[in-house]
Amino acid sequence: MTKITGIETIRTRVDGTWLFVKVLTDQPGLYGIGSASDHYRCKVIQTAIETVTPLLIGRDVSRIEDIWQSIHTSGYWRNDSVVNTVQAGIDMALWDIKGKEAGMPVYQLLGGATRSAVAAYAHASGDTLGELEDDVRRYWEEGYTVIRCQLGPYGGGGFLDRAEARGPKNHWPQERAFDDDAYLENVPAMFAHLRDKLGFGPKLTHDVHEHLAPHNAVQLAKLLEPYRLFFLEDLLSPEQVSWYRLVRQQCTTPQAMGELFINPHEYLPLITERLIDFVRVRISKGGGITNCRKIATLCEWFGVQTAWQEGGDNDPVNQMAAIHVDLASSSFGIQEENHFKPEEYDLFPGHAVLEGGYLYHNEQPGLGIDIDIEKAKALLDPERAAKSYYMAEDRRRDGQIVRP
Ligand SMILES: [Mg+2]
Repeated sequence: MTKITGIETIRTRVDGTWLFVKVLTDQPGLYGIGSASDHYRCKVIQTAIETVTPLLIGRDVSRIEDIWQSIHTSGYWRNDSVVNTVQAGIDMALWDIKGKEAGMPVYQLLGGATRSAVAAYAHASGDTLGELEDDVRRYWEEGYTVIRCQLGPYGGGGFLDRAEARGPKNHWPQERAFDDDAYLENVPAMFAHLRDKLGFGPKLTHDVHEHLAPHNAVQLAKLLEPYRLFFLEDLLSPEQVSWYRLVRQQCTTPQAMGELFINPHEYLPLITERLIDFVRVRISKGGGITNCRKIATLCEWFGVQTAWQEGGDNDPVNQMAAIHVDLASSSFGIQEENHFKPEEYDLFPGHAVLEGGYLYHNEQPGLGIDIDIEKAKALLDPERAAKSYYMAEDRRRDGQIVRP
């Protein structure tokens, strides 16, 4: 029996927002790594991992499901962002160890490959329709078949400048205001332009970032129906998901949702009532490979597909964990892309390779990715890592915050 002898955490990226778990064992040279990154609460996750470590010392590494359940209930309160991330980091590391012991990649232990590579979708954006069109063409020529289209920044297409917004005379010092009607005008016009110029070859998606009032969200989904999106992402905030029933009654625009989900009760009704088409939980926020594999299986029975969240603040280990689940899942739909800098890739021997719209894995035992701890330490800038990071705030004309 191989036993856990310790759990180390490694904080890196220049700004210190990536956190990795290294589970050590009593077998010489045998360890596993996992992702426990959280852009905004990194130090909290690190402390929580230290808190559960004594509980796991001496445990049999082979009992992945049992250890998952053990961490899950260890703090009494559960299904939150912190405990899920702790569970996920340790869970990935245990799958990495199991694969190394078996001499097989993790996807083989999950049932073997159902595809030769993992399709990823690109993020195209532009401040003008012409810039966006050029960016979509660039990704299309690179080989991507699915491309996300955004006008400018987060919430782009819905902003009015201060004068246009007609805010109160005692307005707060905000330069712009988010306006639902501007969004309802500009985003359908964006897709009209793209379909007119590019036809229906590229499969297109759009992320609403939950900025609209629910009734306007329903209207947007209807307005976008003629442009036949691959999916419309985050149309509603997690607090308003019941509105998906109305969206379904009103139109056929495919819906993708879930990157903020942490509790099974958030995604269960959407999957079992077939109210969404793609579930987008982040592997590390969904409790790791063990739990996301269960979600993928559930999706299969209800005809829903997976589109695990990746994107900007995620890391190469979480990406690799998602790839192993994708490879072995019949419910796989697509995975979000990531772009890492060369000096970031350099920390991770065996990292996945993104080329022409596909993510390629390797055949090494376990997750197939490692972390160079010395390089990881050297990359981190202590001054930037000491800072706190917060989600950007968008506001309406009277100053009210828009849910991100
Ligand atoms: Mg999103």
